[in-house]
Amino acid sequence: MNEEIVQLTLLQSIDHVIDTIDSEIQKEQDALDVKSAELADRESTISTLTEKIENLEKERRTLEVEVADEMVHVKDRQSKMMQVQTGREQTALLKEIEDAKKGVKEKEEKVVAIMEEVEQLTAEIEENKNLFKGETELLVEETEAVKKAIAAINKKKKAQEKKRVAQAKKLKARLLKKYDTLRAHRNGLGVVNVLDGVCQGCFMAIPPQQYNLLLRGDEHFDCPTCQRIMYHEPVEEVEEV
Ligand SMILES: [Zn+2]
Repeated sequence: MNEEIVQLTLLQSIDHVIDTIDSEIQKEQDALDVKSAELADRESTISTLTEKIENLEKERRTLEVEVADEMVHVKDRQSKMMQVQTGREQTALLKEIEDAKKGVKEKEEKVVAIMEEVEQLTAEIEENKNLFKGETELLVEETEAVKKAIAAINKKKKAQEKKRVAQAKKLKARLLKKYDTLRAHRNGLGVVNVLDGVCQGCFMAIPPQQYNLLLRGDEHFDCPTCQRIMYHEPVEEVEEV
């Protein structure tokens, strides 16, 4: 194989190791992010429940004021009963009193229902707060563990990066730059094998003439479709055991 290609593929295998390391770091970070998001959700559940309680309490206070007003009204009507003369007036007043009492009863029932709901919501908040506390403690521990894990992974990365620097020095600056640019824009793959006339980067066929030249193994070309640097290396048949 062409010497430049040999060095380039060596560089690419180091780069792939570094990519794997980077995705390991990302995975650790992502898992932590998911947990942080869950914790934020828990917090927002608590504040939603708290707000709900505040609104219910406001409604309850309004109802209680209305009940008190109606009671005054009932008392007022009741004392007026003594003064009325005619049966018609009496019937009208009695109806008014009955209606007011009915209203009071309905509102009192509503107040009781609200109090029950508030009690239930308060218990729910309590439960969420307990969970939040536990989860926060866990997240602190996990953040610490992830930090350590990432530090260990970064150690591995540093060693690979050192290797990469040494390997990169073996390549001509222009070729290296081209490879780096390709890797950045072509999904981390800058140099590719061609098998059966097909670029293993973009899986498009290359012109037969170019393929024939590649088969000789002493040259490299750019893929006409994806521009990746192509070489040819036959894949060894793996015997089934
Ligand atoms: Zn290609």
